[in-house]
Amino acid sequence: MNKTIDKQPSCNDATETAAITVDVAVQKILQQIEPLADFTQLNLRQCLNRILFEDILSPFDVPGHDNSAMDGYALASADLPDQATKTFSVIGTAFAGKPFEGKIESGQCVRIMTGAIVPESADVIVIQEDVNVIDDLTIEVGAGHRMHQNIRFSGEDIKQGAVVLPRGHQIQAADLGVLASLGVNEVKVFRKPRVSFFSTGDELKSIGEPLNKGEIYDSNRYSLFGLLSDCDVDLIDLGVVRDDPNSLRQTLLSAAASSDVVLTSGGVSVGEADFIKEILQQIGQMDFWKILMKPGRPLTFGQIDNALFFGLPGNPVAVMVTFYQFVLPALKKMQGKIQPQKLRLQAISQSNIRKNPGRKEFQRAIVSNHTDGHLQVELTGRQGSGILTSMSQANCFIVLPEQSGSIEVGDRVEVELFKLY
Ligand code: AMP
Ligand code: MG
Repeated sequence: MNKTIDKQPSCNDATETAAITVDVAVQKILQQIEPLADFTQLNLRQCLNRILFEDILSPFDVPGHDNSAMDGYALASADLPDQATKTFSVIGTAFAGKPFEGKIESGQCVRIMTGAIVPESADVIVIQEDVNVIDDLTIEVGAGHRMHQNIRFSGEDIKQGAVVLPRGHQIQAADLGVLASLGVNEVKVFRKPRVSFFSTGDELKSIGEPLNKGEIYDSNRYSLFGLLSDCDVDLIDLGVVRDDPNSLRQTLLSAAASSDVVLTSGGVSVGEADFIKEILQQIGQMDFWKILMKPGRPLTFGQIDNALFFGLPGNPVAVMVTFYQFVLPALKKMQGKIQPQKLRLQAISQSNIRKNPGRKEFQRAIVSNHTDGHLQVELTGRQGSGILTSMSQANCFIVLPEQSGSIEVGDRVEVELFKLY
């Protein structure tokens, strides 16, 4: 039998055989993920940014009673004058939280404050600016008022039993207010995923250590720490691991045993110190895809025991780009979050961008408002995948689709803000 060479994909391949798009890769990843099955019950004040594990149903109508939207006078619409004016006697006052208990008869009205329950048999509120006050006990009302005006009806905001916030909703400041308005003190939220991460590479030093020739400080672990800290996960930082198969195997196995997700950077390409793929094949399942993207290399994705594994590239910009495109949607699904549609913003390019059709490119850029009202976007400068300051300066990616060629100043391009997905 003839032996064949099992050629691995590389960034420099001229042809793109067997490569998949970013979108297909994301779909493949998401298909393998189920939301975590465990929840934590938390007090309202601890819930900000957490994801609801259950639908929140309203225990009552909101508002609970018909009440006044304005300060004024409550009366029966049948009593309103058609023309001219009519005199009413003021028989009491209704305050928010202190209702008027009596009943209104013909020719009578009740002084009423915003939020107060509308008294029995009243069905219109005439605002105080629209009446003539004759004395403490008498007012005069003109024509032109309608039944139900200035009344907020019971249940008009939320009906009893209605789903107010669905499972998978991420709790925002307004939701804390909504939950409080329903008298809800504790809610069930998805448990936070536990994410272990480490850097690989013999050339890496931790901050504080002196650098020998050819060595660099490990920056990926800090970028990943920042990205993950924004994601509401529990972090386990496992430091730097040498390019040594035994240390890598041991660290991967122990990380997988205590985590839902394991992330590494570096060691996934085809150099002689790139062991991650080989080890993953021995201790777990591995998918290794050549993805039509730049920056970003072949993506290593797989499982070790029950943990998901992402072997991110080593280049600092590629780490961040692949985190946003692949790890972030995976974490959101695991967290139980309803996947929002990515916002697709269009901006006018202020830069010429050279590109060949073939891969989807994520160029670092700054989007801002033009005085005309449209968005404009400008590249941050050099775009090498090792130039991490391009990410510091940028507030968005210009996303150039696979089929796109070069862009000229004035062309319309799509941008993806870092913070909004
Ligand atoms: P690798 O994929 O391991 O060959 O790494 C690709 C490039 O990224 C090399 O230039 C590495 O030195 C660099 N690199 C890898 N890991 C890190 C890290 N944690 N911090 C900064 N640079 C890194
Ligand atoms: Mg390396």
